[in-house]
Parts: sequence; structure tokens; C-alpha cells
Amino acid sequence: MYEYRAPRREFEFILHEVLGAERVLVGLGRDDVSRELIDSIIDEAGKFSEQVLSPLNWQGDQQGVRYVDGEVVPADGFKAAYQQFCADGWAGMSASPEYGGQGLPAIAHIVVGEMLCSAAMAWRMASGLSEGAAYALDRHGSEELKGRFLAKMVAGHWTGTMCLTEPQAGTDLAMLRTRAEPAADGSFRVSGTKIYISWGEHDFTDNIIHLVLARLPDAPVGTKGISLLLVPRRIDGAQNGVSCASVEHKMGIHASPTCVMNFESAQGWMIGQPGGGLAAMFTMMNHARLGVGLQGLGLSERALQASVAYAFERLQGRAARGPLDRDKPADPIIRHAEVRRMVMTQKALTEGQRLLAYYTYQLEDTAQLHSDPAVRAHAEQLVALLVPIVKSLLTDTAMETTGLAVQVHGGAGFIRDTGVEQYLRDAKITCIYEGTNGIQALDLLGRKVLMNGGATVRALAAEMVASLGTDLPPALLPWAAELQTRMKELGELTAVVGGRVAQDPDELGAVAVDYLNHAGYVLVAWCWLRMAKVAVQQLAAGTHEAGFYEAKLAAARFYFERLLPRTQAFAAGVRAGAGSLPVLTAEQYSL
Ligand SMILES: Cc1cc2nc3c(=O)[nH]c(=O)nc-3n(C[C@H](O)[C@H](O)[C@H](O)COP(=O)(O)OP(=O)(O)OC[C@H]3O[C@@H](n4cnc5c(N)ncnc54)[C@H](O)[C@@H]3O)c2cc1C
Repeated sequence: MYEYRAPRREFEFILHEVLGAERVLVGLGRDDVSRELIDSIIDEAGKFSEQVLSPLNWQGDQQGVRYVDGEVVPADGFKAAYQQFCADGWAGMSASPEYGGQGLPAIAHIVVGEMLCSAAMAWRMASGLSEGAAYALDRHGSEELKGRFLAKMVAGHWTGTMCLTEPQAGTDLAMLRTRAEPAADGSFRVSGTKIYISWGEHDFTDNIIHLVLARLPDAPVGTKGISLLLVPRRIDGAQNGVSCASVEHKMGIHASPTCVMNFESAQGWMIGQPGGGLAAMFTMMNHARLGVGLQGLGLSERALQASVAYAFERLQGRAARGPLDRDKPADPIIRHAEVRRMVMTQKALTEGQRLLAYYTYQLEDTAQLHSDPAVRAHAEQLVALLVPIVKSLLTDTAMETTGLAVQVHGGAGFIRDTGVEQYLRDAKITCIYEGTNGIQALDLLGRKVLMNGGATVRALAAEMVASLGTDLPPALLPWAAELQTRMKELGELTAVVGGRVAQDPDELGAVAVDYLNHAGYVLVAWCWLRMAKVAVQQLAAGTHEAGFYEAKLAAARFYFERLLPRTQAFAAGVRAGAGSLPVLTAEQYSL
């Protein structure tokens, strides 16, 4: 069983040495958020994650949640950890100070989100969803509604959920049937059944605020007829018409209750405008999608730590270049190049994608805080482009990295007691919820790329080139040239798809995932180049941490030589297009 260790040095490297977090924050008028403050957040949240949460992770997975007479009982220790989390002030980090939050910019709290996901992802979902719900209420709710509910949510005294899914309406929310009837007092009576609602019921708090998508009686069909309602489990201490009918038994995140929720004439209040529900919910979903990307990253980090620990400890066979220690019966498996291939794949993907995620959150700060509206709007567009990439790439990668961790462990990885198979089981859901990864790819290509003729992709490419500066060390120029080639190829692929979609609308779905992956791998190459530049500069300056920076260069090399070439397969998929995907009969697929 492995416990999580917060990768503090890694966080410092990304936040301070590569992204210059403090300098950027000063430019955004947030000079109150100093490097010392960020480091103390990392340190304290690191201790909480390591000492309180990490030991609960495996035990929570084994125990799961219990459903007893309509009540949900979370795993042992989960409630106490939640109460400590709130008492220590972590619940309202990102929320507005007007409602008791700390108003921290994203770059200062993203690192906390990652650590919590690494330490106990199932537990983290409760507070993560609550933060998203509070954010949506803050952005779209009336002053009256905010005054009544927000401070309690921000403090963590009440948690929040998002209730979208129904049995017949998953990806296709236009089909949802939950009704909201207007009442004489201006509130609504909400009736319907929602399924798969994470943390829909629990005993952490005495109230749960459900954000529910529903239709008004006169609503038009389709997504334009969907409204967003705030439906509390209790109103002034009395039970509202909300109940949990059952919890699901599932592949992973056993400690996160996935609830069937019944709403029976439950009192609720409209958030935003009638028919504007989906737009308001998207505020929360964008927040949540980046959060799910962080879940993938958190799992990748934890899986990497497990692989490293095992590969240096497990003795099997002799190294091809000769024995390391003749007194021992065998060498540690890390001496086998094939095992190093697996561990290095984990490292290069995890660390490269971390920079991509953190860069996106830094852009989010610019979108929120910059004094120039044009700069804010530009940053917002880039974030919108990056959200589906971060969500999809980091979660698909978590399947690969956690699978590799199991593989590095051999049979021990498949056995429950090492705890590694849990990471793999937990990772799968991240590819499914908050919009499946296939839907993320359609969103990227259809809405974010083609709708403005690829202009945002070109704008991002310009940012990427500018960020590298004109002083790249000569040793890195071949990688820079390779990156240029792949960026050019992405531009060509954009044009190819743009031309074809007009002829055949199926082109979009046929190539979207390959397109997203191509773009994602190119972005991560750019991230590695940025990190490599810092590493080369530090080594040239005679750093006393040569080992750390040399490892960065080794991982960057591995990425450019062995992972970036995956773009060739993605490009081939995009070029092949819909012609390679005819509709066959059921018998033709499987005789
Ligand atoms: C553990 C867990 C927790 C969850 N938590 C929540 C929660 O808190 N709140 C909530 O509201 N929901 C929650 N969900 C629901 C989750 O968001 C949905 O499962 C997800 O959106 C997919 O919907 P679906 O399951 O109906 O799959 P479907 O929509 O039936 O999709 C099946 C497959 O078809 C593909 N597909 C469907 N439509 C299209 C299309 N138009 N184009 C291309 N491909 C398509 C999908 O990508 C997928 O691969 C949770 C689910 C689980 C399992």
C-alpha cells in the first residue's frame, strides 16, 4: 500500500520557475498573492492530503458507501476529514470574499485541487462539486438567492450537487423530463427523477443544495426549454420533497455515492432566466470539466509515485548491461529498459500535462482579472478552446498511466492489496462524466475550432510561439523545429476537416477524437519545450539541483522522441475521415 506524497518541488518548478505565477499575478493586480503565500498553501494542503486523506483512499474504496433506509452513510473517516477540511478554511478558497470566500486566483488553488484528487478522488468530488455549484449560483443567481444560500455553501456548511442526468437523457439533455411548475409565491415545484447524482445524499452536512435542470410547463422542446433550479434538501430545517432512492454499485470511486434522486413537488427557485438553464449550468460544467482533468492528473501522479517505488524495490532478473549488485539475488526491475520505458512514459505524460493544465488555469485568471476587456475576452476564448482538451487528454492519459502502474507491478498490480488497481478503476469514470471524452472532442472541433474558421487555434499557436521567446538554447532548436512541424500539420488538419465537413456532416464525429489528441500532444510538446528551456538555463548557471533538471531534460527528450510521434497516427486518422467508418449491420460488426 502506497501513501501519497505531495510533489512539492514539482509544484514550485511549474508555478514559479516556468509559469512565473507571482509575476503574472502582479500584472493582474493581485500582488497580495505572493510566492510565500502560494508555497504555504502548497505546504499546508500537502500535509492535509498526505496525512488525513491519503490513508482514507484505499479503505474507502474497500468499504464503499452504505444505503440504509434512504440515508447514505459514507466510508469511515470521510465525514471527519470533510469537517476538518472546512474548519481549516479550504472550502471557500476560490469563492467570492463577499460571501466569506478567500477569492484566491485559480493559479493559487489549482494545486490544492490536484493534491486532493491524488490523495482521495472519491472524497474530493463532494467539495469539488460544491465549489462548482457555488460558482454557478454566484454567477447567475439573484441577489436574494445568493444572500440566502451562498455563504453556507462557501463555508462548506452545505454541499452542492449538479443534477442533469435522467434515465433517458444522458449526453442528450434535450430529452430531459423533470418538470418545474410555478407556484403562487414565485418559487417552483420540481418533480422528476435524476440518476447518477454524485454526493446526492450523505451525512457530511445538514443540508444539500441541488442544482437541477428542469422544464417549465410551457417550455419549448429541446435545450432552449431547459431551466436551472436551486432545490435544497431541507428548507428552514424541514425536509423538502427530495429523497435518495438508491445508490449505484460501480467499477470505481466506490466511496463516492452515486445516487438516484427523486424530486416530488420539491420547492425550488430559478437561477437565471427561464430557458437559460443550460447556459448557466455550463458555467459550472466548464469549472467541473477542468476539475475532472485535474482528477486525471491527480491519478496519474499517484500512479507514477507507486511505479517508481515498486520499480526500485522489486528484484527480478539481471540488467542487460550487467548486474548492479552481485550480492543481491537479482537487480531492481528499473534496471530493465522496458520497465524504464513504462515509468518514463508515466513521467513524461504526467509532468507535461500538468503544465498544460496549470497554464489553462493561469489563462483563466487573465480572463477574470485583467484590466483590459479585450485581453480578458481573448483569454476567455483560449480557455474555452483548452477546456475540452484538458478534460479529455488528461483523463484518457490517466487510463494509460494507471494501467502502466498496474503493469509495472506485474501480478502484484492486479492484486487488490497493493492498492494500484484502484487507481485504474477510479480513472475510467473521468473519461465518462462531465461530458464523455467523445463529446469533448466534438465540442472542440465543432464549436471551438471550426465555428470561427480555426482563428482561435491560430491565436493559441501565436501565444505558444511568443512564450518560447527568441532565446531558446541551441540544444533545444531541433525540438523547436519539430514542434513547428507538428503545429503546421495541425493547421493543415484543421483546413482538411473544415473543407470536408461542409460535404459530409459525419466527418466531424469521425475525426474529432484524433484531432483533439493531435492538438493535445502538440500542446504538451510545447509545455516540455518550456520546461526544457528552464532546465537548460539552470544547468548552465551551475544549479545545485542538477539531478532534478537533468531528469526534466531526459523526460523532455523521451516525449519528443517517443510520445510526440503518436501525432502521426492521429493525423492519419483525421486524414482517413468518415470514409473509413461505414455503417455496417449488427451482423457485420459481430457475427
Ligand atoms: C459515477 C458517475 C457519477 C456521475 N455523476 C453525475 C452527477 O453528479 N450529475 C449528473 O447529472 N450526472 C452524473 N453522471 C452522469 C454522466 O455525466 C453521464 O453518464 C454521461 O454524461 C454520459 O451519459 P450516458 O451515461 O447517458 O451515456 P450516453 O449518452 O448514452 O452515451 C453512450 C455513448 O454514446 C456516445 N454518444 C452519445 N451521444 C453522442 C453523440 N451525439 N455523438 C457522439 N457520441 C455520442 C457517448 O460519448 C458514449 O460513448 C455520473 C455518471 C457516473 C457513472
